Amino acid sequence: MLSIIDGHNDTLTRVFGEDGGGIDAFVHGQGEGHLDLPKAATGGFSAGFFAIYIRSLVKNPKNEPPRGDDGSWTFTPPSIEHDWALSETTRLLGCLDELLAAAPDKIRLCIDIDDVQASVDGHHLGIILHIEGCEMISPDLRELSGLYSRGLRSLGPVWSRSNAFGTGIRFGWPSSNDIGPGLTDAGKELIVACNDLGIMVDLSHLNRAGLMDVAAISTKPLVATHCGCHALCESARNLDDEQLRIIASTDGVIGCNFFTGDLRGDGRFEPDMPLTRMAEHIEHIVEVCGIKHVALGSDFDGATMCDELGDASGLPKLIDLLRDRGWSEHDLTGLAHGNWMRVLDATWG
Ligand code: ZN
Repeated sequence: MLSIIDGHNDTLTRVFGEDGGGIDAFVHGQGEGHLDLPKAATGGFSAGFFAIYIRSLVKNPKNEPPRGDDGSWTFTPPSIEHDWALSETTRLLGCLDELLAAAPDKIRLCIDIDDVQASVDGHHLGIILHIEGCEMISPDLRELSGLYSRGLRSLGPVWSRSNAFGTGIRFGWPSSNDIGPGLTDAGKELIVACNDLGIMVDLSHLNRAGLMDVAAISTKPLVATHCGCHALCESARNLDDEQLRIIASTDGVIGCNFFTGDLRGDGRFEPDMPLTRMAEHIEHIVEVCGIKHVALGSDFDGATMCDELGDASGLPKLIDLLRDRGWSEHDLTGLAHGNWMRVLDATWG
């Protein structure tokens, strides 16, 4: 079974949120949710970017938002306060410490490329700590080095809401991501600081102007950890071919998102989407960027998955489908973990 590095999940938020089940649910599995230790083992999920994502005090809609007559919809999540974000971040980091202490032989925090390699080699499940939306970081970046010390190795300046660093693209279909201004001065300083510290910068959820600013400033490979292709589904979150090429031109990588709403093409969220649709997005990235620039970015525990895949235990179904479509073992290995390894080595080293 191929070892998979996955670009994004919201599992910490689910497991340590209301009714999430906590450490026991993650270590022993619970049936609910997309990712836990048993499901990871079944699916070959060896390491992933585990996000600290701060929920708004106003709940996001669980189902699809209201639509226009033509099926179009938009949803703009409310912004959140620094103090709330920081207190939640502190709580989640404490939960993560407890999780790591509960199963030290099975789960490891990955702080360098050797840790990730050991995960790929099957020694433990690797947690790469990621922040999705930097509201817990002050504009003077005073919290950043402390977060790095706690293991932070990846961040997205914004989620789908604006903050002190930039403009998060609000959700919507059909929509481009060319909405709003680029990074603020603090956002530009954040990118430089991440380059200096060795923290990967994630373009997911950023609007077009912000993406172009990161491309102009960053000296590291560009990365979108969980995005689909706008050419196949006109979701605001998806990247158009020009943006895909910009990422590839820096030797970067795009983790193809699994969220049905970003893949189907009709803007709906339902899970009755064939697995072949995932293959079509992955193969579009290959067509536009080349095989070295595609990876997986599931959004497990943060989005609707297609029924055919289900959860992390279903990952081999996707690999088998691609093999059936003519993918070589060399190319499958690049998709599964090789491309992530190259980019992480270049970014953290
Ligand atoms: Zn996301």
